[in-house]
Amino acid sequence: MSAARKPSAKAEHFDVLIVGAGISGVGAAYHLQAQMPGTTFVALETQETFGGTWITHRYPGIRSDSDLHTFGYRFKPWVGAPIASAEAILNYMGEVISENDLGKHIRFGHTIRRAAWSGKTSLWTLTVERKSDGAMLTMTCGFLWMCQGYYRHGQGYTPEWPGMDTYKGEIVHPQTWPEHLDYKGKRMVVIGSGATAATLVPAVANDTAHVTMLQRSPTYFIPGRNAIEIAEQLRALQVDEHWIHEIVRRQILKNQDDFTRRSREEPEAVKAELLGAVKLFLGEDYDIAKHFTPSYRPWRQRIAFIPDGDLFQGIASGKASVVTDEIERFTETGLLLKSGNELEADIIVTATGFDLLPLGDIDFAIDGKPLKFGDTVTYRGMMFTGVPNMAWVFGYFRASWTLRVDIMADFICRLLTHMKAKGASRVEVAIPDSMKEMKLSSWIDPEDFNPGYLMRGMHLMPKRGDTRDWQHTQDYWGEKDELPKIDLGGEEFVYGGVKMEA
Ligand SMILES: Cc1cc2nc3c(=O)[nH]c(=O)nc-3n(C[C@H](O)[C@H](O)[C@H](O)COP(=O)(O)OP(=O)(O)OC[C@H]3O[C@@H](n4cnc5c(N)ncnc54)[C@H](O)[C@@H]3O)c2cc1C
Repeated sequence: MSAARKPSAKAEHFDVLIVGAGISGVGAAYHLQAQMPGTTFVALETQETFGGTWITHRYPGIRSDSDLHTFGYRFKPWVGAPIASAEAILNYMGEVISENDLGKHIRFGHTIRRAAWSGKTSLWTLTVERKSDGAMLTMTCGFLWMCQGYYRHGQGYTPEWPGMDTYKGEIVHPQTWPEHLDYKGKRMVVIGSGATAATLVPAVANDTAHVTMLQRSPTYFIPGRNAIEIAEQLRALQVDEHWIHEIVRRQILKNQDDFTRRSREEPEAVKAELLGAVKLFLGEDYDIAKHFTPSYRPWRQRIAFIPDGDLFQGIASGKASVVTDEIERFTETGLLLKSGNELEADIIVTATGFDLLPLGDIDFAIDGKPLKFGDTVTYRGMMFTGVPNMAWVFGYFRASWTLRVDIMADFICRLLTHMKAKGASRVEVAIPDSMKEMKLSSWIDPEDFNPGYLMRGMHLMPKRGDTRDWQHTQDYWGEKDELPKIDLGGEEFVYGGVKMEA
């Protein structure tokens, strides 16, 4: 940061302020410390501990839906089974914090309420609520590293259905799962068929009287053994875990890249493979066409890996079942479906997704003007026009989120180092004059990827342009080579200095 700036004496100042201590925030802290020693920074986290998603979600069975070799950081080997419980992920993150002494940089119970940018001082001023005493603190920073995730943590998304108020049982959202919910011997209906429903159903199947997964339309799943053959082989050869981690990551990424390409080029073949794997668990007589054959081509929505096919084992055993139908209304005892059938339930779980929340509920202002984030244009899904000294870590949909935590950290640290060398205190991205006529469209192409939370909240997200520089390509394979080569002297980066008032 430029030495020209002198923050106010009252406010605590940091060169960089990280918002959130989920997997992105902890990764940001690690890289900042490792790549930019001497930089002052803090990570502020609303919750009482680190973990983000993996602390918020406490429903039975909560686990990753992608492998931990790529969901783990590149710098710390993952040594467990590829699909991991929230507890194992939290342990891993805890080790990253303790092994690197990051704890001293993280403050829990601190919620950022307001972020105001001043072009005069080239500083962000943050209003932060401290939970322990309700105090409103003021902090300043030179750069905001946004790791606040993308959804509202406090509450999940539950659609309004007629008759919900007449239902005498319990309605539960997985995001706010009651700690002592007693479902033993009870009839449970789980509405939804995404990764959460697919995790929850097998996890409660043995204890409930019966659990039904009620879906409006089917979803693709990939059942398979919760192990990675090449990792097992390398371990048997006593290869160093750092090597195993890197080799397995490359193997997985190669497989994913092939899968993404094949889903586009030969969707029918991929579809047949996915459905064939499900058939192995459920047998020829099961109505796979009705319950597990989506109308869309594979990869338009994230595909959950089902370790050891546990969801399908639950169905095959009769402890769980799937109903594909629509809800007409809630009744006193359960659900009346559009087909006229009724589902009786003591507990109804609405695994219906979350609410998109792009900026962590922080009230942003740029030089006194409220920021309309939806009016900005994104530079590579990292920075935003008209928003200086800020980057948001938004990971991948089809590959592990954390892959982008690492490569974005390299980019941000390179950018901060470049600014320091230049003596610049401000950086902003701007569409070059020659591209001013560029066609703008929504953050992502709904034809390519269309999960409900994004479709509901797309207007809140920045716009994308029509070249790779001006969109979140969702292409790790390309970005891993492109990001390190970004020319920070390019015309899309506008730097500024500061004339600081005393
Ligand atoms: C149930 C579930 C399972 C998932 N499984 C996978 C998976 O297997 N693989 C994968 O790639 N992705 C998965 N995802 C997506 C997942 O959310 C991301 O991969 C990743 O965990 C996001 O990490 P994050 O740190 O960016 O955000 P989050 O985990 O959302 O953490 C953000 C943190 O910022 C804090 N915060 C927000 N606003 C403020 C504020 N104003 N002030 C202070 N603190 C703030 C929040 O309290 C939170 O702790 C899953 C998502 C869910 C919901």
